[in-house]
Amino acid sequence: MTTRTAIPSAAEERLWQQLLHRDASAPFVYAVCTTGVFCRPGCASRLPLRKNVRFFPDSAAASVAGFRPCQRCRPDEPVAPNLAEQVCRLLQQHLDSGASGSLPLARLAQLTGRSPFAIQRAFQSALGVSPAQYLARLRTERFASELSHPDQSITDAIHASGYSSSSRAYSCSPLGLTPSSLRKGAFGERIEYAIEPCNLRQDSVTGHALSARTARGLCWLAFGDSPQLLFDDLRARFHAATLLPSKALGKILRQIIANAQAGRPTPDLPLDLRGTAFQLRVWNALRQIPVGQTRSYSQLARELGQPSATRAVARACATNSVALAVPCHRVVASSGALSGYRWGIERKRALLEAEQAGKPHHAATENAVGKGCKTRT
Ligand SMILES: [Zn+2]
Repeated sequence: MTTRTAIPSAAEERLWQQLLHRDASAPFVYAVCTTGVFCRPGCASRLPLRKNVRFFPDSAAASVAGFRPCQRCRPDEPVAPNLAEQVCRLLQQHLDSGASGSLPLARLAQLTGRSPFAIQRAFQSALGVSPAQYLARLRTERFASELSHPDQSITDAIHASGYSSSSRAYSCSPLGLTPSSLRKGAFGERIEYAIEPCNLRQDSVTGHALSARTARGLCWLAFGDSPQLLFDDLRARFHAATLLPSKALGKILRQIIANAQAGRPTPDLPLDLRGTAFQLRVWNALRQIPVGQTRSYSQLARELGQPSATRAVARACATNSVALAVPCHRVVASSGALSGYRWGIERKRALLEAEQAGKPHHAATENAVGKGCKTRT
């Protein structure tokens, strides 16, 4: 092997280890001599043989060496946090700064360079609430946590949470569904549900899936062996709601299952996600992971700008109640091991295998030999 290397070979072993772990945050690109394509380390493409890999500090260096950017991981395009996540961070900063009141859409538009309409729509569709409702929820959570300090006076807690007055603090019920109304089991709500057979793999990983929705969107999607147990779980979770079987929802559920079996993305449906502000952010981040890719818990924590929150991220993944639509199955341990899954590790394995098999093949060009290589397999 006499290939020219752009990165000292002593450093390459460490880069190779990062590539093996598909470390999406690693700041280099790698090129594959046999295909002539270069990728980000987190790309979902098949892992190349070590001897065919070359490392470059950035995509410009890989292009100069004659490699083409991968069409899937787009290593030549800058990574930007998605708009909803960007807005989450701005709202968190607004709260952390001690400012009271809201952060108007017009101001968010200035800060992101997007229109108020685009922000409202992207945010609502990603997190199921408006930016104003999200900020109100952050503030309520901050207030509750301030109050839980035994030496904190109520007045201090009100100020630390950015409420302009005590009456404001008490009157701000941010959403119809606060944690306390959840504890009451969704009293008075109408929830439609459907149960369908669900075999995630021929002859094995059989069972059923149950989905449920409110007027706002899908609020539950679970897998299980027995329809009765699935229904009992739903009943326990929403014990004060009126549960109604729905044929229309059954049709949607069959489509969701068919897509999952074929490794295709879940149809984009309105969701009614119920969780803390942090859980909503994690679930939104999960929804950004493309089919065929996985992330580790620590990668997700870094993507959320909270690298030390790995365990909280793992908990948020484990408490997801809408399988597939919030694809928590795409999170694995940083060792690459499957780690846990709320609905059984065999189902997780089957889902990931279907997504690996179903994805379009990576640039499928074994005949396009990279110009920068003097040897090939
Ligand atoms: Zn790629």
